[in-house]
This record gives sequence, structure tokens and C-alpha cells, in this order.
Amino acid sequence: MKSRLVDRLLLPVRVDSIEQQGPRLRKVTLTGPALAGLAWQPGQHVRLQVAPAPPAIDWLVGTLRTYSVWDHHDRTMELIVFDHGEGPGAGWARTARPGDELMLLKPQGDFTPRSGARYHLFAGDETAQVSFGPMLRALTDDAQVFARVEVDTPEERVDLSPKHLGGPRPGWNVDWTYRQGRSAASSRSLVEAVRGLSLPDEPGVAYLAGEARTIQLVRRHLVEDRGWSRRDVVTKPYWTPGRKGLD
Ligand SMILES: Cc1cc2nc3c(=O)[nH]c(=O)nc-3n(C[C@H](O)[C@H](O)[C@H](O)COP(=O)(O)OP(=O)(O)OC[C@H]3O[C@@H](n4cnc5c(N)ncnc54)[C@H](O)[C@@H]3O)c2cc1C
Repeated sequence: MKSRLVDRLLLPVRVDSIEQQGPRLRKVTLTGPALAGLAWQPGQHVRLQVAPAPPAIDWLVGTLRTYSVWDHHDRTMELIVFDHGEGPGAGWARTARPGDELMLLKPQGDFTPRSGARYHLFAGDETAQVSFGPMLRALTDDAQVFARVEVDTPEERVDLSPKHLGGPRPGWNVDWTYRQGRSAASSRSLVEAVRGLSLPDEPGVAYLAGEARTIQLVRRHLVEDRGWSRRDVVTKPYWTPGRKGLD
């Protein structure tokens, strides 16, 4: 029973490399035959077994934490993990070394680009930029894009630039704001950055990810101040103070 359940749910992978992407961001490249041919849509995430769980349930899945897939090709998968401090996920990424083995649940989630949108609006924090990268790469060349990402310092940006994505793209308005030590929770400065955008009169589709309360504030701005319908706003809370493994 034990091995059958685990075999069905979890895929064995190995850490291939770790690359520092900023003071608190690490790109972790995973590899293994179990990754070959996996279905993945940009914006989806995996759940990793980052540590053992209490013995009574450890045989089932262990301690799982959730990370967006930055990229996936053949037998490799890239994640970017933000080191916020305490927590088994952050601790795993700090101490992971090439050759380490772990298990993961295959990609899942519906936080993915919507087709047919007039334009796409992205807003979120350090953790959100990891799903925004592949979502941006997946958009058609003529897509109109607005993105405001808030991180602590410029060093904590991930590369969302059109150059990185295969050449300049007209119709993109992507920029960052910096908290410089302020909390990412309930961040009004991200709301102000979105408020400052000159958006077309008609709503597009908004993708809001990152800290849960900040997302609520940005959604409220779009719905109450700009008159967007709630169904035009796709939200995915990634974390919030005091909650563990939010998913
Ligand atoms: C769909 C989805 C996709 C995600 N993708 C990514 C990703 O690509 N990269 C990434 O780094 N994270 C991502 N996250 C967020 C990540 O899963 C959480 O930050 C998770 O809580 C980390 O686990 P932990 O064990 O380090 O901390 P936990 O044990 O879960 O939390 C301990 C405490 O740390 C604090 N905390 C947790 N996360 C943060 C944070 N980001 N900033 C500040 N304080 C925090 C909270 O107060 C929490 O109570 C994603 C989450 C979801 C749901």
C-alpha cells in the first residue's frame, strides 16, 4: 500500500544545479527521467517534498511546499525559490545541493494565461514573478501587456525582459517597484503602481499573485475603482503572514 500510493502520486527527481539569482532568490534545476513528457502549462506549479512530516503521516507525502515552474524541457525543470527566512521550503532551497534526491507532485493549477484577452495585466511580488515569466513567454507576439512587480530591491528582480524572451516585443509595459525594507503584505505601494497605469478603457484580464492581502487590495482597486468584473481578475494567493504552505 505504502509504495503503491507514493508511486502513483510522487515523481522522483534529483537536484542538478543551484544558481543564485539575487540575494534571496535561488534557481533550482531539477532533473530525472520522471520529468520527461510531463504536461506543463506556463503559470502552473509543482508541490515538492521539502522535508519529512510527523511520522504518522510521513509515509504519505511528507512536508509539501509549492513552487511555480519557471521552465520545463525534456528531463529538466527550473524553479526559483525566494528565501524569506524560516520555513521548511526556504530551508530546503538554502541547503539543497546537486545530487540531492526528492519527490514532487506533477504540475497542476489553473493560474495560466487566458486566450482571447484584450490585454494582460500582471501584478505581484518576488514569488509571483516566477509564474509571470513563463506566462509572459507564452503570450503571442502581438499581445498587449502591463505588469507591475514589487520586490524589495532591484537585485531581487527576475529577468522578464523582452530580450530574455527572444527579442523586443511592442506593446509591453513591464516595470518594478521597490519596497526597500517594507513588508510585502498588504502593500499599498503595489496598488498605487497599478493605479498609475494608463490602461485601455475596456478591461483586459488581470493575473494577481503573491501575498494574499496585497492581491485583495489590487483586486479591489480593479473592481471598485476601474469597474472591472471579478471574472476578469484571476487571483492566486501564494503566501500570507502566519500561514504555512498556503495552497
Ligand atoms: C501556486 C503557488 C506558487 C508559488 N510559487 C512560488 C515560487 O515560484 N517561488 C517562491 O519562492 N514561492 C512560491 N510560492 C510561495 C511558497 O509556496 C510559500 O512562500 C511557502 O509558504 C514557502 O514555504 P516555507 O516552508 O518556506 O514557509 P512556510 O512554513 O510555509 O511559512 C512560514 C512563515 O513564513 C512566512 N512566509 C512564507 N512565505 C513567505 C514569503 N514569500 N515572504 C515572506 N514571508 C513568507 C509566513 O509568515 C509563514 O507563516 C508559491 C505558492 C503557491 C500557492
